[in-house]
Amino acid sequence: MTKWIIITGGVLSGLGKGIATASIGRLLKNDLKIVTVKCDGYLNVDPGTMNPIEHGEVFVLEDGGEVDMDFGHYERFLEINCKFNWNLTSGKIFKSVIDKERKGEYLGKTVQIFPHITEEVKKRWFQISKDEKADIMMVEIGGTIGDIENSWFLEAARQLKKAVGHDNILYVHLTYIPLLSSVGEPKTKPAQRDIAQLRAMGIQPDVIIARTKDLLSKKIKEKIALFCDIEPENIINGKDVPTIYEVPLMFENEGMLNIINQKFGLNHKAELVEWKRLVNRIKNPSKQIDIAICGKYTDLHDSYASIIESLIHAGAHLDAKVNLKWIETTEIEDKKITVKDALKGIKGIIVPGGFGGRGVEGKIEMIRYARENGIPFLGLCYGLQLAVVEFARYVCKLKANTTENEPDCSAPVIDILPEQKSVDMKGGTMRLGAYTADIKKGTLVYKLYGNSEKVSERHRHRYEVNPEFHDILLKNGMVFSGTSEKGRLVEFIELPNHPFFCATQAHPELKSRLQNPAPMFYGFVDAALKI
Ligand code: GLN
Repeated sequence: MTKWIIITGGVLSGLGKGIATASIGRLLKNDLKIVTVKCDGYLNVDPGTMNPIEHGEVFVLEDGGEVDMDFGHYERFLEINCKFNWNLTSGKIFKSVIDKERKGEYLGKTVQIFPHITEEVKKRWFQISKDEKADIMMVEIGGTIGDIENSWFLEAARQLKKAVGHDNILYVHLTYIPLLSSVGEPKTKPAQRDIAQLRAMGIQPDVIIARTKDLLSKKIKEKIALFCDIEPENIINGKDVPTIYEVPLMFENEGMLNIINQKFGLNHKAELVEWKRLVNRIKNPSKQIDIAICGKYTDLHDSYASIIESLIHAGAHLDAKVNLKWIETTEIEDKKITVKDALKGIKGIIVPGGFGGRGVEGKIEMIRYARENGIPFLGLCYGLQLAVVEFARYVCKLKANTTENEPDCSAPVIDILPEQKSVDMKGGTMRLGAYTADIKKGTLVYKLYGNSEKVSERHRHRYEVNPEFHDILLKNGMVFSGTSEKGRLVEFIELPNHPFFCATQAHPELKSRLQNPAPMFYGFVDAALKI
């Protein structure tokens, strides 16, 4: 019998529901099959076309699904590969109900949010749990209590109790206890209002996670317990911690697993020995290193969430704290700062994925500096494409560019994939998801991946190294360390006689795990520590 855990949140957004869900999942992992479902209120079918500044990173799954960054937390904490249909958006649900209405499936009926949308939501949840043979279904409802756009998901979550039985469902609610600095005291009123609203919707939480700055006192726990009608032991401390990877350890100390075991009649034990060791490494590193990330979304670090996590993972294994320096490359172009000054003290440069022309020439200058001065360089997707443009310009002496920014350029070394040329829809039209590359023996990439001849990483791009320019790039000394489709697509490049100059058309940051860091990141940080 599948057990259900519903996770909701209130008072304000950004409390870390995704991390809380992932952390609870981490405690339950091992012998249980856990499925993490996320319900988002917005009307986009998926977040693929959303601006990362507004919405954070677009996370790509093995199956090519574009989802939000909470799936990154689920995958990293639970070490699972999620699927696109585990993400329900209002857009997806409404679209299928409206499509059914047009097909005449509700003939004679008035099609309404309640019950038709809520039925569709529950139907999808049950279908996923059946398809996956889930032991535990974790359903995170995005947004906060009181939002109109998640109300159908909350109503479906309320109805679920009747459908699966009281003993098979646990409601976890994340709330916020602000510390009012003028009185120096944590205040529970916003949480009281929030939980009252949740209960008015018919959901009685079994567990409250209280997000706070410091540890909750016994008095505060008792107060919350009294007004929301649960035991003080079921109020879990969710204080700010130095690293998100500590959250499962904190929940375990607070008795979260006991509560779940009791409710579901389980006798599960968490396996956290290695996890704990790595968390201690993150908290007490013996070395430090400064790495630059050059991009255009540097104002919102959430748009690079997986890259940040990958550097933490690699750092934990190399006993080093990676300090990030964000370089807005438009400032290099506007001559507000020179490349040399921007890179003072920097031991490695990452040029991450991106789209469009803003800041691109600045990125190319950064890559040139890294190549010419022996600074470790890691290029990710757009980073590979721009490294090829840089090499074509300054080594092959071509008037090179990507047609993404200069459609009529004389040496289009990066060009749109032939199969994308006729596509004019934007959503879901990229080369998305996991693809396998053939790795060239003896290259750095081959070594990094543990002498593997086949490597699978996830992708999200429309442009490609143009096959017409493969020969001239190779002749001038660039190494294609990984290719696919019998050499037609370049997946990895590197330059010999450089401490570390490596790039990939893929996004290896999407598969990095705390206990299993992405090889490209591990190799990059390792090289940066050695120069
Ligand atoms: N803009 C480039 C492309 O579409 C790179 C995409 C990316 O970095 N994710 O191919």
